[in-house]
Amino acid sequence: MPGRIAGTGLVAACAALLLSSAAYADTVVLRGARVLTMDDAKPEAEAVALVDGRIAAVGSAAEMEPYLKGATVYDLPADALVMPAFQDSHNHLIWSAAQAEDIDLTDVADEAGLRAAIEPVMAALPKDAWLRGGGWSVAVYKDPSAAVLDKITGDRPAWFEDVDGHSGWANSAALKAAGIDANMKDPDGGRIDRDASGNPTGMLRENAMALVADLLPDYPDSQVDAGLEKAQAEAISYGVAAIIDPSVKEWMLKGYQRADAADKLKLRVEAAVSVDAAEGVAGVARTLDLKNKYTSPHLEVTSIKLFVDGVIETGTAALLQAYVGSNSAGELLFTPEQLAEIAIAGDKVGLQLHAHAIGDHAVRAALDAYEAAEKANGKRNSRHQITHLELVDPADVPRFKELGVIANIQALWAYPDTYIVDLTQPKIGPERSEWLYPFGALKKAGATLAGSSDWSVSSMNPLEAIQTGVTRQDIADPNGAVLTPQHKLDVMDMLRAYTVNGAYAAFDETESGTLTSGKRADVIVLDKDLTKIEPTEIASAKVMLTLIDGEPAHEGEGLPKPMQQ
Ligand SMILES: [Zn+2]
Repeated sequence: MPGRIAGTGLVAACAALLLSSAAYADTVVLRGARVLTMDDAKPEAEAVALVDGRIAAVGSAAEMEPYLKGATVYDLPADALVMPAFQDSHNHLIWSAAQAEDIDLTDVADEAGLRAAIEPVMAALPKDAWLRGGGWSVAVYKDPSAAVLDKITGDRPAWFEDVDGHSGWANSAALKAAGIDANMKDPDGGRIDRDASGNPTGMLRENAMALVADLLPDYPDSQVDAGLEKAQAEAISYGVAAIIDPSVKEWMLKGYQRADAADKLKLRVEAAVSVDAAEGVAGVARTLDLKNKYTSPHLEVTSIKLFVDGVIETGTAALLQAYVGSNSAGELLFTPEQLAEIAIAGDKVGLQLHAHAIGDHAVRAALDAYEAAEKANGKRNSRHQITHLELVDPADVPRFKELGVIANIQALWAYPDTYIVDLTQPKIGPERSEWLYPFGALKKAGATLAGSSDWSVSSMNPLEAIQTGVTRQDIADPNGAVLTPQHKLDVMDMLRAYTVNGAYAAFDETESGTLTSGKRADVIVLDKDLTKIEPTEIASAKVMLTLIDGEPAHEGEGLPKPMQQ
């Protein structure tokens, strides 16, 4: 995605600026630009004053008078916009962050290229750490072998997946660790490539990949910490101050907590723990256990993630009716009974449920499970969520409001790209295709929409998602085709999804999501007023300033130098 590349440059610029940043005063006043509070009680203002990390006043420029003495005052350009910081309600931040630090073999064609990619990482990691990564392609690297890796890695195990994820390249130490030798048979659905005398070459195909991949240990702490620092800086450069991490393992919670203990975690992180059908209700107790172990000032485990189905492109999403030209409708990854059992048990102990549902059958199954929880435990303020929502049956649309279920949407996916046009619409036919990402219908039916990126599946820049939610067109092609225009949202819907509704989804609406006196001073300044520009210009707007707890966490291009009063 173009945003990620742009973002990396911004982060670098940002880091340089932060280093040179002087200490700030306890009071910050933002004035000169329109203030969009996202608070219905007082939607607009001329200025805000932030004191000791909290919003102290929202009002006219004159009303800021009592706060000016000793304050840091930003006189902003008139066409800028001040608003609450964004919240990204589904972002795999720490996992993607750690993975981003893996060895990247993209475009590597020969031994020298391998050496250049591997050696610096090898030197930085602990001596016993696995060397891992991916991105290589047999189209570019013609003759991958264990032997060539051994020359570089010695006896440290190394494992690299190819760009398509169908082949893996192991060195001899990794083969040995997996017990792969001339005597080992190919596993079902997999192949161990061998030379003329039957010895493994280092190349493992399909199901044989798991022989090595399953041995990979957790990432070393140093890799997690380095990745998190960069990913967090990128999020903050896009104006994000809070996320829901929808599928954490214990090493990820440890990583967040390490950062929090070192005073480096600036984002608020709500986390969900994935529970599958095999684990069942036992996952509820495990989630509570993790919640008890890993709560810290910026981190809380609040939810259970339920992976209800796959994706339409590969025919693994669960549909109510069969795929076009097939007898299969895909499968739920839980039986309805299993799903209801976990939902009832999780809801009962106050956990939020966060379901991945792509196909209309999966969406219905999740709603049914949430309804079962409501029946069993009574109507609570449970705020269960369903995310992705690629295909929703019209009969289920009103149930979001009825059950108080949050529609957690990745609006950046809602345009006719090749996934939709070539791989999705032909598989579901024209009638169902009218219900792809039906955000407009959900909104009209009164559902609460929370906005999210699913990073690193797609760009974490909320402005790209906000634009796409409004236009349902490719950002790169403003005159291009529109996906199901009846499901367009307006700019304010999208801004709500990324602020006040995100706060609601995280049970944090008394502390964040609007610019209201008393709340945390998580505030951003954009260089353009998103409500006044063409929708096709939204994604190119820039975040000039991100304040978290009233402190500048990102200072971007065009930000005027503040005055010390
Ligand atoms: Zn996800």
